[in-house]
Amino acid sequence: MVDTCDVDGCNEAAVRSLAINKVREAGLKVKPSGRRVLLCKQHYKEYKKRRKKLDRLERMRWKNV
Ligand SMILES: [Zn+2]
Repeated sequence: MVDTCDVDGCNEAAVRSLAINKVREAGLKVKPSGRRVLLCKQHYKEYKKRRKKLDRLERMRWKNV
């Protein structure tokens, strides 16, 4: 059995397992399947891209304080 990506509508083979809240924070739509979700290569790339953007926003907020 091959694990598949937990993003809504995606059936690619999963390559990464991540904490669900982090993935949700990044704005990806994942099925509720416990505390961890599986991501395929493409969605993991997307996740990293979105995280980077979020981290940058967070840093900007810190600077303004
Ligand atoms: Zn996927």
